[in-house]
Amino acid sequence: MAELERIENFIDGKFVDPLGGKYLDNIEPATGKPYSQVPDSDARDVDLAVAAAEKAFEEWSRAPATDRSRILLRIADLIERDLEQVARAESIDTGKPLSLARSLDIPRAASNFRFFATAILHTESEAHITDNVAFNYTLRQPRGIAGLISPWNLPLYLLSWKIAPAIAVGNTAIAKPSELTPMTSFLLCKIAREAGLPNGVLNIVHGTGPKVGAPITAHPKVTTISFTGGTATGKKVAEACAPLFKKVSLELGGKNPNIVFADADLDAAIAGSVRSSFANQGQVCLCGSRVFVERSAYNDFVNRFLDKTSQLRSGDPLDDKTEQGAIVSKTQLDKVMFYVDLAQKEGGRIALGGNAPEPINNRCRDGYFFKPTVITGLPVSCRTNREEIFGPVVTITPFDNEEEVIGYANDCEYGLASSVWTQNLNRAHRVAERINTGTVWVNCWLVRDLRVPFGGMKQSGVGREGGEEALRFFTEPKNICIAK
Ligand code: NAP
Repeated sequence: MAELERIENFIDGKFVDPLGGKYLDNIEPATGKPYSQVPDSDARDVDLAVAAAEKAFEEWSRAPATDRSRILLRIADLIERDLEQVARAESIDTGKPLSLARSLDIPRAASNFRFFATAILHTESEAHITDNVAFNYTLRQPRGIAGLISPWNLPLYLLSWKIAPAIAVGNTAIAKPSELTPMTSFLLCKIAREAGLPNGVLNIVHGTGPKVGAPITAHPKVTTISFTGGTATGKKVAEACAPLFKKVSLELGGKNPNIVFADADLDAAIAGSVRSSFANQGQVCLCGSRVFVERSAYNDFVNRFLDKTSQLRSGDPLDDKTEQGAIVSKTQLDKVMFYVDLAQKEGGRIALGGNAPEPINNRCRDGYFFKPTVITGLPVSCRTNREEIFGPVVTITPFDNEEEVIGYANDCEYGLASSVWTQNLNRAHRVAERINTGTVWVNCWLVRDLRVPFGGMKQSGVGREGGEEALRFFTEPKNICIAK
């Protein structure tokens, strides 16, 4: 058997082995087989990264914004230059269709760098004149070392969404991708080095949550934590950070409502709902996993939704025609199957899917595939409708009026995102205002403008990312008061 490629940590501008010398197999979800090895680092590697980040901070934080901007722009250019290679790595690591990685994830990662590279050239500071007494101005300074922890579903996109603003404003960073999907951040380190990012500004330590993530959150010199992941892990991160008074942003899970009124453009609503249900095999935190349809349109919607969903092509993620790839891991596949079983015990009817597709090809015969699955007939309050599954499983439930569906949408511990489909403008505003989610999309889904605040309410997290919010999060405002 050919030797597996070894991913390395990136510390102080160098690719290094973990101090403990241990590695974990990195499994390709489409085949169920290891295709590379990832460092099984521990707190000693985190300490090394902190020392490198500390050493680099002084110079990087004082570098002119134009210099930092130029390097980040170069990183964006190089991601685009290497688009095919990076997209392929993303597809192999995650099981998502290569076509999706190529058209969405990787271009968006480049956009993240370009956006923050240019944003820092256009910031303004506030000044407040206190009558004839004093003149105040606000100095926003980088906070020091930022700890950036991300999940496996959109590995490069989410990590770059944190790295770009953190280092753009002059912090140095230690990032930990999920150990399930380390390859794109490994490639990013090569790109960062080629782009001329000074040593120690970005350090990536690979490994598990308990052995690498926890030491980052607990390290007294890491002053700022930006975390994206599950709500249960978010609680642990919050607990670790609270006694050290760290600044923390938590982007957590979701169970997002997707509401279709009978007056919607049904063609658009059905196409949009199939996409929001099953993009990346339902493994996008923003996927609309609870679909609510007004009763008068319910039968028509369900029939056409099932028809369109059944046409989604499951296949080898590396095949350009594939629309549904693999689930990220065996553990995640087991979780999906658990909930499909639970849904039936709770009285649900499997209207479509509910099992694995026929073996796709010889290469993928042991991969973690599951058919897009639609469940009807469940009460709104059951576990299947309240708990995050994070896979290709949606429920569809009828409703009778606006008041009722707003109650359904909000009857959930999560509050990340929602969609509303209607042609009635007044209704769109009314409903959007009353749904407790950080984002409400009207007649669309996953439209992103990097300037808008992004984040969740309730158990979906605290803090906001995006544009000005991110620039503020990664800086400390200092008021300087000068007597007149
Ligand atoms: P997860 O298990 O919470 O892991 C997220 C990251 O935290 C991983 O890098 C993980 O490392 C690390 N981690 C685990 N334990 C830790 C600890 N004690 N201290 C510090 N870090 C620790 O989440 P996941 O399963 O990777 O991702 C799926 C979840 O992310 C879903 O709930 C999804 O909704 C959420 N998500 C939210 C957003 C958003 O913007 N709100 C976006 C995408 C995904 P390991 O990989 O080694 O466990």
